[in-house]
Amino acid sequence: MSKQAKLLDGKATAKLVRAEVAGRVAALVERGVRPGLRVVLVGDDPASEVYVRNKDRAATEAGIDVATIKLPATTSQEELLAEIERLNSDEAVHGILVQLPLPKGLAEQVIVNALDPDKDVDGLHPENVAALVQGRSGLVPCTPAGCIEILDRAGVELEGAHVVIVGRSQLVGKPLAQLALARNATVTICHSRTRDLDNMVGSGNVVVAAVGRARLIHGDWIRPGAVVLDVGINRGEDGKLVGDVDFASASEKASAITPVPGGIGPMTIAMLLSNTVLAAARQTGLQDVLDSATITVTS
Ligand code: NAP
Repeated sequence: MSKQAKLLDGKATAKLVRAEVAGRVAALVERGVRPGLRVVLVGDDPASEVYVRNKDRAATEAGIDVATIKLPATTSQEELLAEIERLNSDEAVHGILVQLPLPKGLAEQVIVNALDPDKDVDGLHPENVAALVQGRSGLVPCTPAGCIEILDRAGVELEGAHVVIVGRSQLVGKPLAQLALARNATVTICHSRTRDLDNMVGSGNVVVAAVGRARLIHGDWIRPGAVVLDVGINRGEDGKLVGDVDFASASEKASAITPVPGGIGPMTIAMLLSNTVLAAARQTGLQDVLDSATITVTS
């Protein structure tokens, strides 16, 4: 009988992280600061609306002052930049997240560059990207931060491990490679032009799939005992969510694996809350409060 991989339960882990974040929010509130988050949603992409609703609910539960600013798909670049400027100068707002993708006609990088880097809780501003590459403290993109967090809490050692990341986006693949390197992993990044993808994946002690192609990565590719993180969110033919990894076959080879849904998705939201609280503490000179309020909640 084949062995089944341990499930890396992102939902349960994210719940623990959110409980810890709520503790830090309470400590900041006691010192007169309620962390404020604004999510900017342009247009009416149904998937984005679901993501934003989930972020809003989780932030509210953690005690964060959160609001979604909904703008019509017809919003011009100038109007969006004016909104960002308003949020940049609002002292009650410590974190700003512009939900991507933006409708056609809006230049994402121009908008991201306009964010105050201290409020850029998705870690995409060039200043935060540079901080990550140079090993300085900044704000780290939420999805790769969530990948590292779930590995840490599952006790997966990255030092010396070969981490194979499939996908090289600014949002996931590239920042995750930097985070894994900072943990002394050996990192390979694969993409659409990579030759022998199956062998590349097969050489990973840790495999992270961030592609956006349903079940691209088959269990046969996975090295026995590898840890598999599935970042992908795809809609299957039956309308259900599926990841980039063929979960059934990969579970028979891996030692641990994240499901979709209930894996990296909830972790991403938890890290957004964590970044917002960190940003609030830094902007108000209350970082010491965070240190003393960091109680590790265990299940
Ligand atoms: P993206 O910007 O579209 O990047 C996809 C990457 O996959 C690119 O680097 C692309 O290569 C590579 N790729 C595409 N087809 C490939 C193939 N056949 N073989 C190998 N590599 C291939 O996507 P993203 O924003 O990183 O998102 C990736 C997935 O994660 C999506 O399903 C997205 O919905 C999901 N996601 C989930 C969360 C979460 O919270 N769980 C957060 C963000 C994203 P090239 O660079 O050569 O084009």
